[in-house]
Amino acid sequence: MVPRKLFLMSIAFLALSVVAFLLGNASQNSLAASLTPSSTLTVTGSPNLSLVTLTPAPIRQITATPTLSLANLPSPTPTLVISMGDLHMHTTCSDGSSTYELMVKRAMKLRYAFIAITDHHFADTTTCRQVIESCRNEKRILCIPSMEVSGKRHLLAVGISKSVDKGLSIKAQVEAIHKQGGLAIAAHPYAIPPYTDDELFRSGLDAAECSAVPPAERAHFLEMQQKYPIHCVFDSDAHNFFQMQTFNICSGKITTFEDLKNAILQNHCW
Ligand SMILES: [Zn+2]
Ligand SMILES: [Zn+2]
Repeated sequence: MVPRKLFLMSIAFLALSVVAFLLGNASQNSLAASLTPSSTLTVTGSPNLSLVTLTPAPIRQITATPTLSLANLPSPTPTLVISMGDLHMHTTCSDGSSTYELMVKRAMKLRYAFIAITDHHFADTTTCRQVIESCRNEKRILCIPSMEVSGKRHLLAVGISKSVDKGLSIKAQVEAIHKQGGLAIAAHPYAIPPYTDDELFRSGLDAAECSAVPPAERAHFLEMQQKYPIHCVFDSDAHNFFQMQTFNICSGKITTFEDLKNAILQNHCW
């Protein structure tokens, strides 16, 4: 029995070996047929990606950051220095309802660098003498003793030391102001009574209150200003401290009347 069983097992093993040999040979033949030296092995799912076309990723050049030091920091933007102020204000010396002290305090609150006190009189009453004296000796702000010469027209005499005759012509008033080293500025030039073109543009005035040029007159004023250059100032004509709302802005630091004159005449105020 045993030899017969061994014999049958041997036959079965032999048969399985033959089958395995035939199958292995067949698959090797199949792979050999599909792999040829010129074959490209492609990766399924990435139609354009083949081993042949893959190239190494370029090496990224890393440049070192320049050393940050105080020496190579960009220089800061230069600071713009401006000075603000008002050249037409009234006090209780004339028809204003706020005292000199209140007007100065308001100007300081508004960070003004300069003011001109331009009452309709100049040191010809006790109050006016006190106002002018206080202005002349003012330490808190640059205060320029001045006057609104209220004759045929209203003319600001800024930086004067004695009264200007209101009976003179505009041209003569301008000359009298210049003789004292002051600035002659046309106050509200189109208010009643308005300046004539001749008075406004041919009297040697230093400036006019452009803030007071009414809309209907602006085109004409600008046209004349092209032919006869006259500087612009922007004043409030405040008769109390609530009205101090219009002001000049000048580039540069203004601490003296000469600074202010230069700034206006060199067109550094707007
Ligand atoms: Zn006036
Ligand atoms: Zn006035």
